[in-house]
Amino acid sequence: MQPTEQGQRVVVVGGGLAGLAAARKLVMAGQQVEVVEARDILGGKVSSWRDADGDWIESGLHVFFGAYDEIFTLMREVGIYGNILWKPHVLRYTLAGGDHFDFENWPLPSPLHLMPTVLRNRYFTWGEKLTLVKALPKIVLSNDQYYEAQDALTYEQWHLAQGVSKKMLTRMFLPMALALKFVPPEEISARVVLDVAGMFLRENQASRMGFLAGSPQDKLIGPIAADITRRGGIIRTGAKVRELIMAGPRHIAGVRLADGTEVRGDAVVLALPIHQLNKLIPAAWRGDHPYFANLAQFEGVPVITAQLWFDRQVTGIDNVLFCPDGRIPVYADLGNTTPDYAVGGRSRIEAVVAPARQIFDHDDKAIIDQVWRDIQNAFPQRTAGAQITKATVVRIPQSVYWPKPGLNKLRPTQRSPIPNLYLAGGYTRQRFYDSMEGAVASGNRAAAALLADVHAIHQRVAVPALVLSEE
Ligand SMILES: Cc1cc2nc3c(=O)[nH]c(=O)nc-3n(C[C@H](O)[C@H](O)[C@H](O)COP(=O)(O)OP(=O)(O)OC[C@H]3O[C@@H](n4cnc5c(N)ncnc54)[C@H](O)[C@@H]3O)c2cc1C
Repeated sequence: MQPTEQGQRVVVVGGGLAGLAAARKLVMAGQQVEVVEARDILGGKVSSWRDADGDWIESGLHVFFGAYDEIFTLMREVGIYGNILWKPHVLRYTLAGGDHFDFENWPLPSPLHLMPTVLRNRYFTWGEKLTLVKALPKIVLSNDQYYEAQDALTYEQWHLAQGVSKKMLTRMFLPMALALKFVPPEEISARVVLDVAGMFLRENQASRMGFLAGSPQDKLIGPIAADITRRGGIIRTGAKVRELIMAGPRHIAGVRLADGTEVRGDAVVLALPIHQLNKLIPAAWRGDHPYFANLAQFEGVPVITAQLWFDRQVTGIDNVLFCPDGRIPVYADLGNTTPDYAVGGRSRIEAVVAPARQIFDHDDKAIIDQVWRDIQNAFPQRTAGAQITKATVVRIPQSVYWPKPGLNKLRPTQRSPIPNLYLAGGYTRQRFYDSMEGAVASGNRAAAALLADVHAIHQRVAVPALVLSEE
């Protein structure tokens, strides 16, 4: 029987933002959707859970950028856009010894909005600033073709080839690269840094940042999942997919879970982290299609997140903080940024610990000691006498995909060579790389491709029937 345009059974594997975005679009288009998620909680890299004390633990520090779009539309549709609290539009870099420098955004047409802050900056010399100013046209005025050509280089290679000062690399762009993808400038494609920097410079509001008002589970993931189930979608957690069920070499019939249960469907969306996807791809597909063979070149970046609770206020800052010294390139005092976490004005710092590869196996105490040293270095006065009341460490061995040079052209489209199989996830092809926006955009694209294909099949079935009836 040919599937009808409405009511296709679609299995979405993975309950991160990509899978949830795809599932919601498909449910809204009248498809019968079942999401299968390996863990007991949804949200993937944006997941959060309560510990034994009832405190929320987050899998990673998450901020929204003004440049995002599709995740905002999703949040507006679900009625949760108001859960984002936008912070003052300033990028603050804290420095060992207690000093800092800021990049403030001025209400001027782009790219002039950053000029006053560059001119006023006293941390870099005029000579150093001039080297950056000379390189700016290439960042701001270039098109995607130029950025793509730079994908052959690391950001460090590009930076030095333009003659931009080394100090700007190690003090400004190092924390930026580490905050973006948890790898240093010598390991990240120049394309990614130039693309993001260009966006921030071209669009006045693109670099403003916002936090959720509470845990990702309460303020983002939970409401999206509830919206899907309210519309008739099914979400199964604790359901790890072990293999794909094939009905012929070019047709996927569903998935088999680790406990042997089969979840069958007319189409499947795989919204998995790349290393998990690679485990499910049949070897024969890699031989038949470069599309699948290329996926072997992708890998996830290890990252650690530390959360420290304090007996007092130690930062006085309600915003994102960047840091070129030590191991915490980006961090925030969630006691100040996130009202649901605020307790008596005390600090609760969440820090990205990166690069994490060399210290991934260090014990929790060693990692927390390192983070605490970095915070003390950044806020020597405020931290004097402060005590840590509690601390946690979350390790993700393979988190976002590693955008190494040369990889961008291999990022897969959401439509795969298998006619009823679609991919979604931060690593798939869309504008925003592996981010919350990228994940939602990829899920939307996977759903759109699937719906377009169903529509096309339906049209092909309908046309001969019409011709026959005319005869
Ligand atoms: C520490 C950290 C900080 C970050 N900070 C930011 C930020 O500030 N701003 C921003 O925009 N982005 C940030 N990101 C990136 C963002 O979290 C990701 O890009 C996005 O969440 C990826 O979503 P996804 O759905 O593609 O993948 P995932 O979130 O990884 O979802 C995939 C899901 O598939 C499930 N799964 C895996 N294997 C199986 C299987 N076999 N069967 C069934 N299910 C399976 C997983 O459990 C998971 O739930 C950060 C990421 C990390 C790690």
